Amino acid sequence: MGAVTQWQEVADRVFTRRYDPFDVNVTVVAGRHGTLLVDTRTSLVEASQVRDDLRELPVSAPTAVALTHAHLDHCLGAGAFSGLPLWASHGCREDLRRHGIAQRDTLIAHRPEEEHAHLRASPIPVPDHTVTDRHRLDLGDRVVELLVLGHGHTDHDLVLHVPDAGVVLAGDLVEVGAPPQFHDAFPFEWPATLARVESLGAAVTVPGHGAPADRQTVATQREELSHLAALCREVIGGLRSRESVLAASPFPRETTTLAMERAVATGD
Ligand SMILES: [Zn+2]
Repeated sequence: MGAVTQWQEVADRVFTRRYDPFDVNVTVVAGRHGTLLVDTRTSLVEASQVRDDLRELPVSAPTAVALTHAHLDHCLGAGAFSGLPLWASHGCREDLRRHGIAQRDTLIAHRPEEEHAHLRASPIPVPDHTVTDRHRLDLGDRVVELLVLGHGHTDHDLVLHVPDAGVVLAGDLVEVGAPPQFHDAFPFEWPATLARVESLGAAVTVPGHGAPADRQTVATQREELSHLAALCREVIGGLRSRESVLAASPFPRETTTLAMERAVATGD
């Protein structure tokens, strides 16, 4: 599915734009005394394009940046906004410290050679403002709640809630247009974490990738994740074969196989 190439105001002064590669979402939350940018794409070059595109919006330049998690398509462009406070979960900072360079090397290995120099020039982000539980970021006439709600897509997902707008930015805890990604996931904990996201009561959820989601879409994804977790539990308990899980899973074969591996690795 092709990404839209324009800003979409998903709620009052909350603007989201989908970018290729990865159909990844970048979001801006504007207040009277500050503008928060959430996620930064994959490199300095890609993030510079975001910075240019921000001029189309009736908002002031970003005063802070937040990262939903440490996967390369969301965070490696953060260096284009150096000098601004960089928010992330504490676990995100640790993950970038441990795995950031390896992630960038993986990205380089999958891109054409002419891009290697600029990808290598993109610094590994070092968040200087971290959240272990929750933080209220004051933008003047509104706040953004930065929340760590539990393990799910990773062990360090940051959820951003704009209460007055009824919007949640869920990062890759919610996927639209593609199956959930399990490479670093916690299959048994993800459904409960997503239920906590739902309990915020937002009408609009901006996923990490794809179009904004309504409540029903998020609930359906949580039910599918719960179903898969139950299937994994049966495999681990010896009540089911892996082959029968592949047939019964709501997700594609490759996704389900990875989820089963992660279920075994992370435990219930
Ligand atoms: Zn991710």
